Parts: sequence; C-alpha cells; structure tokens
Amino acid sequence: MPDDFAPIDLVVVPCLSDNYAFLVHNRDTGETALVDAPEAAPIQDALRVKGWTLTDILITHHHPDHIDGLAALRDGVRVIGAARDAHRLPDLDVQVADGDVIEICGVDTHVMDVSGHTIGHIAFHMPEPELAFTADSLMALGCGRLFEGTPAQMWESLQKLRALPIDTIICSGHEYTESNARFALTLDPDNPDLISRIEGITAARAAGRPTVPSALDEETRTNPFLRADDPGLKTALGMADSSDVDVFAEIRARKDKF
Ligand code: ZN
Ligand code: FE
Repeated sequence: MPDDFAPIDLVVVPCLSDNYAFLVHNRDTGETALVDAPEAAPIQDALRVKGWTLTDILITHHHPDHIDGLAALRDGVRVIGAARDAHRLPDLDVQVADGDVIEICGVDTHVMDVSGHTIGHIAFHMPEPELAFTADSLMALGCGRLFEGTPAQMWESLQKLRALPIDTIICSGHEYTESNARFALTLDPDNPDLISRIEGITAARAAGRPTVPSALDEETRTNPFLRADDPGLKTALGMADSSDVDVFAEIRARKDKF
C-alpha cells in the first residue's frame, strides 16, 4: 500500500480454509474496521497481535463464510451491511445502499452494489487509501459464482469495479487464485501479463503467502472476467460477433465446468 495514504494500515486475515477477512486501521484515530467475519478466532488473534480494538464491521453479503464470526466480534462494534440484504443478515446498526458514502476509520467509504454472486452483494471502496473490498464479486483472476444474479448483472458489477481508479487495490474474499489462473490460461494462453502473473502466484503459494489483495491494473490485463469485451478474447472464444454479456456468460459457464 502506498505510504502517502498513511495513517491507514491494512491487514489480511486468512480464515476457514480459503477465506480472507481484512482489518483497516487508522493510526491517528485508533479506529479499526473489519471487512467480513468468516470466523472469530483468527480475527481476534490478529487484533491482539496489533493491539487494536474493533470499531466497525462491514459485511459484503449474507453467505455463512462471510458472517459466521460476527456474533463473537460485534460487542460494542457498529455493524454495517446492505439494506437490500438486511432480511437475511444478522442485525445491522447501519443499513447502506449503492452510492452511499460513509466514514469508516476516518476515510470516506463508498458503497457499491455489485450484485451477481448474490443479489444485494455490496463492495466498499475507499478512494484514499485506494482500497476496494470486493469479496465474492471481483476476485483475484476470477469472479464469484452466479448463485442468484444473471450474467448481465455480474458483468455490470464487474464493469463498475473495473472503472475504479487504476491504482486501486482489490481486497477479495477467497484464495482461489491458482485455480482461477489455470482456467484463465485455457482462454488466454499467449497473454504475457497473465503468464508472468502466474509465475508470481505460484511462487507466493509455494511460500504460503496470500495472492490477495491484488492490483486492479493487473486484473484488467489478466482477469478473463474483466475482459469479456476484449476483441482478442472474443475471437479466441469463437465469439467475435457476440455481445459482451454473452461472452461473459460463456466464460462464466466454462469456469463452472472447469
Ligand atoms: Zn459468497
Ligand atoms: Fe464466500
């Protein structure tokens, strides 16, 4: 993370078998926010190591692997989630919707509806410090499965995320990157950016390091789900004359069978 956005610190917390939660901390105010709560213990450990106390918890969507730790962490903490999902989320202290701007850890945080994986899935964008918390919408070299939304909804959500400032760091919800990379190579075997990125991914995983967060700049050049409107990729799929949504749907369908 760039130093000029001090006083914000970011900590990635591996949870369960392949989830990530994130801690955002403001060194000046002492505020600490958690994004998603897959399970309490590793988050409590990370807080203890840093000496931080939670002030806010941001929830991206209702799936158990993003909320099951909430009950054990929420005492005295402000819990924020989508109004659209409130009926199936734990009790929320603040309900937010697309376009809302809330202050978290002393920085403006923009709420984006990124439906597709679920309806009502939200992302949180902090323009300064250039962080976006995307959970199971845009993922490192991938995107979430379409459990509830249509390909058109997910493609629209991914285009909104792609339009964020190019220096944005994407904090996504799972360590699925190696499998995503193997799939991406089947579509895009000659993409030099993809090939060099995969070398980095393989090295990181061999060393037990997370591949999340990732850089939006790199995602735009290597993530096939962000490139459904790329003429070269369309041609490679034999879909040169198809709509962007149809190409996105085909890529998602191939990944589901991969
Ligand atoms: Zn999910
Ligand atoms: Fe998930």
